[in-house]
Amino acid sequence: LRDTRSLRDYIRTIVDFPKEGILFRDVTTLFADARGFRMAVDQLLTPYAGLAIDKVVGLEARGFILGGAVAHQLSVGFVPIRKKGKLPGSVISEAYALEYGEAVMEIHDDALKSGERVLIVDDLLATGGTAAAGIRLCERLGAGVVGCAFVIDLPDLGGRALLEGMGYDVHALTA
Ligand code: IMP
Repeated sequence: LRDTRSLRDYIRTIVDFPKEGILFRDVTTLFADARGFRMAVDQLLTPYAGLAIDKVVGLEARGFILGGAVAHQLSVGFVPIRKKGKLPGSVISEAYALEYGEAVMEIHDDALKSGERVLIVDDLLATGGTAAAGIRLCERLGAGVVGCAFVIDLPDLGGRALLEGMGYDVHALTA
């Protein structure tokens, strides 16, 4: 029988994770399903097919799983943006505000060349702080951001408005 589940059907919500009051969108169930994972990867890259993309940049950690598959499918290289202190080589850093405190993301300073066109990939867009830090890191290395692709967009948290207001393309598969 044909499987007619939509992408949304593979994503579950965990109540009170990582702390009380948070509804955590869990994409491990999407990744674990052959059809769900394929659907997600295909839908993430479809708007960018035929565009000149030199690198896929994935945001730690679920952006690595999705971004690696997208890069393979586009036949381009993959570049990780990681949390502070994880990358072994020489890095540049960007701090950004969290609800409480701040976080720092890093990229190897030789990971992108000036003029390269990149697609940024992550699982979920909330406030947009993480993606905006990723964009800044790419641009500081001289790269141009063609688009930002996410499986889930939580529009009430303002990330899409923030990124689109800065002139970036935002592609999300589900709310
Ligand atoms: P933002 O910086 O507020 O847009 O948060 C997005 C980042 O937090 C992404 O790297 C997501 O992986 C992570 N994140 C925030 N909320 C969730 C969630 O409910 N499920 C999975 N990841 C989340």
